[in-house]
Amino acid sequence: MNKQHKLRELEEVLIAQSTSDGDGVQLKRVFGGSDLARFDPFLMLDEFGSDKAADYIGGFPSHPHRGFETVTYMLAGQMEHRDHMGNVGSLGPGDVQWMKAGSGVIHSEMPKQEEGKMHGFQLWVNLPAREKMTPASYNDIDANSIPSYQLNGVAIKSIAGELEVNGEKVSGVVIGLSTDPSYLDVSFSSDQQVDINVPDGYTALVYVYAGFAVIGDSNYQLSQGKLARLSRDGRLLLSGGSETKLLVITGRPIGEPIAHRGPFVMNTMDEIHQAIRDYSDGTLV
Ligand code: MN
Repeated sequence: MNKQHKLRELEEVLIAQSTSDGDGVQLKRVFGGSDLARFDPFLMLDEFGSDKAADYIGGFPSHPHRGFETVTYMLAGQMEHRDHMGNVGSLGPGDVQWMKAGSGVIHSEMPKQEEGKMHGFQLWVNLPAREKMTPASYNDIDANSIPSYQLNGVAIKSIAGELEVNGEKVSGVVIGLSTDPSYLDVSFSSDQQVDINVPDGYTALVYVYAGFAVIGDSNYQLSQGKLARLSRDGRLLLSGGSETKLLVITGRPIGEPIAHRGPFVMNTMDEIHQAIRDYSDGTLV
């Protein structure tokens, strides 16, 4: 069978779990924590969202990262980022912040509102060993600069990567990374299908944050708050309805050992212990 005619199948469905992080921020952890190789090159996805200030007002005060990239995508509300490099970034609806922690960053992510709705996502993307100790960098991406596409009633915002969707090339803002991540926000307006040509061997994840979706030719309805991890070869076929909103996240696996402790993701526990020492000695950044 021609590989292009093969459809990716459901390997696993995960239900986003309520938890808290930072200074008491209530959020849903979609995946992350243990057994991370199956998501390679991705490490974690959180959905934060509430219209109650008490759920987000504590924010994420000053904390470190080393060894990976954090991607924050806002749907509603205002957040402010400050880091040790002197960057101050304001994130509003539709904005994205793509931060490479590299060898070390110390930053805060705090709400810039005292009431009203806050909603967004944070994705962690791993770095290969050769890039883990490279300098930190920071990219504030304005909502207006994120390409949007209308494909037969399906609206697609393309934050990262280049994929062919329904036969059309869809290009994002962030391209050229070694893990070649693609990050799409897909909104359906009626019963429609999207057919995405994801390179063979790549990890593909679909997270439904409103409505439901059906993957490939399965009968399983992936409802709001569920993530599908798909098999690594073939096209990604998604069906949705008028309420459906979902994220499509794909990338090239790194294939290296993952050692993870809190805000540090390295290849070995020795490197993790070094990061912890560097942070407590004040030499992380
Ligand atoms: Mn952070």
